[in-house]
Amino acid sequence: MNDLEFLTLPEGRKVQIKGMTRKELKTYFHTIGEQAFRGEQVFNWLYNHMVTSYDEMGNIPKTLRNKLNELTSIISLELAEKMVSEESGTVKFIFRTEDSQYIETVIIPEEERVTLCISSQVGCPLDCKFCATGLMGFKRNLTSGEIFDQYLLTQKEFERPITNIVYMGMGEPLLNFRETARSLLIFSEETTKRIPISKVTLSTAGIPLKIIKLADIGMKNKLAFSLHSCFDDVRSKLMPINEKYPLEINLEALNYYFQKLKSRITFEYIMLKDINDRDEDVEALIRLNRRIPSKLNIIPFNSLKHMNPGGISSELEPTSFYRIDQITKLLRDEGVTVMIRNTFGEDIQAACGQLASKYASS
Ligand code: SAH
Repeated sequence: MNDLEFLTLPEGRKVQIKGMTRKELKTYFHTIGEQAFRGEQVFNWLYNHMVTSYDEMGNIPKTLRNKLNELTSIISLELAEKMVSEESGTVKFIFRTEDSQYIETVIIPEEERVTLCISSQVGCPLDCKFCATGLMGFKRNLTSGEIFDQYLLTQKEFERPITNIVYMGMGEPLLNFRETARSLLIFSEETTKRIPISKVTLSTAGIPLKIIKLADIGMKNKLAFSLHSCFDDVRSKLMPINEKYPLEINLEALNYYFQKLKSRITFEYIMLKDINDRDEDVEALIRLNRRIPSKLNIIPFNSLKHMNPGGISSELEPTSFYRIDQITKLLRDEGVTVMIRNTFGEDIQAACGQLASKYASS
């Protein structure tokens, strides 16, 4: 990434300060004739103290604050709506961006952890047949500031500290590589005090070159891969992106990632009745586990009925819990590490794959 690339702006727009990494802030202060340590100070105010205006930055002189107010913008997201699930305490936040787009962010509180599920794009271009976000289409990439703000603003609204972050909301983070990587850089630097980077998980449908690029950057976040089938024909029906990047290329990229970072991949697997829960699927999962050191996260399918989908999306049914148990046992007997993801927040359409803005214009 070119050091000054982050300053490229559409005409008339102010520099967006929130979302700059530590290095970028220091460079930016240098370009406006200020000392680099001011960049460090602003970094701390923005991401450690999580202030939302220059007036709160006590150790920044008034003249510099005025200059920053003139040159830059510090705002990115605004809370539009907040919904709390009575069943589980899951909270869904709807945020409005400066250009009036809407995105969703979810907090999932459990006894031993509080997970924040953040979005990386407004909508999603991938059109996965089991996912509501795919059905709403793609609007634009989020900036790293908008990605970070989802953490900042939800943490301010939520009484318990967030302990884990997952990039599993709207969008495909690796198709928004630059802004996703910038946001991970911020989390990896400042959150040592709050959230260790090892508690941050990026989930991808599989963009092989970007998986390799991520491995080369070498951040210590976790990587999850949305597998959903070990067979290309089935996977392509569920996830059109598989036609462009078939499984084998992705598996090679994931292997590269593992070899480089020695961090086990999590394979995510939505259990779909008669589609990927057959005996041959179980055998393929065992073979895959022997090939790539990994864990398997089985996800019960959350309904898309609220979207009234057509085509294959309307035919998808969840695998019964009886069959999920049976499969889990078979896999564990073969030494596969299996977790079953809980479903939270279905009553407010906040469960995995249910995020699609009701405000979205078509
Ligand atoms: N684009 C990324 C991140 C968004 S999806 C990716 O594909 O991984 C985040 C997770 O939610 C993925 O594992 C995805 O497969 C899962 N998901 C999507 N729709 C779902 C649904 N209807 N029910 C359960 N999980 C779903």
